[in-house]
Amino acid sequence: MDFPEYIIERFWSRVQLPEPEKYVDECWIWTGSREASHVRKNYGIFKFSINGIQLTYRAHRLCYELYHGEIPDGLHVLHECDNVLCVNVNHLWLGTNKDNVDDKVRKNRQTYGEKSGTAILTNKDVIDIYNYCMNTNESVSEIAKHFNLRVDHLKRLIYGKNWKHLYQNLTEEEQIKIRSVINSKFSNCLNEEIVRQIKYVDSKTMKYSEMTKKYNVAQNTIYNILSGRTWSHV
Ligand SMILES: [Zn+2]
Repeated sequence: MDFPEYIIERFWSRVQLPEPEKYVDECWIWTGSREASHVRKNYGIFKFSINGIQLTYRAHRLCYELYHGEIPDGLHVLHECDNVLCVNVNHLWLGTNKDNVDDKVRKNRQTYGEKSGTAILTNKDVIDIYNYCMNTNESVSEIAKHFNLRVDHLKRLIYGKNWKHLYQNLTEEEQIKIRSVINSKFSNCLNEEIVRQIKYVDSKTMKYSEMTKKYNVAQNTIYNILSGRTWSHV
């Protein structure tokens, strides 16, 4: 439909735009009303009246129409960026009902793969993370920071709760190695000298619990060192 100028102006007054040079990449955020909170997606909505007729539009659909004209019947306007409040026309695409369902399935499957709520992890990213975990002495939070992931998301990955199909492809040994980063909370305080001390001196005379206290690490960290799961080069 043709929207009168004042309606269009009102629409834009409720959109927070990024800097012009970021128009394409960044989301344009709807700051007006939203659908009732019990609605799953809780899209932005825009209400207005033309010739006394009350109309309610989903904000992103209206924006799509402003740029591309009327949306053909039965088609959905889908978000590339997963941000329901985004009305950036560059992030919107027209899909069929099937596309919509596929998109939802894809996103549900990868819910925990999300990076900062927008980008989505790929299989390759997950494998990179596994490899990183196997070869690092960093703590979980450091690793999470490194990959720009939330810690709880990373933990789910590490425990194989998400991306099961990839996790199951790992050998048991690899899974243990990956999981050991959970317990290496303080392992970044360890260095070769300390590890050598633990491995070749303390372990001969001290109990696990004593070493745990002495170095402020989890028992599993000591176990991993002594069994050669970590620091095997020392
Ligand atoms: Zn967006």
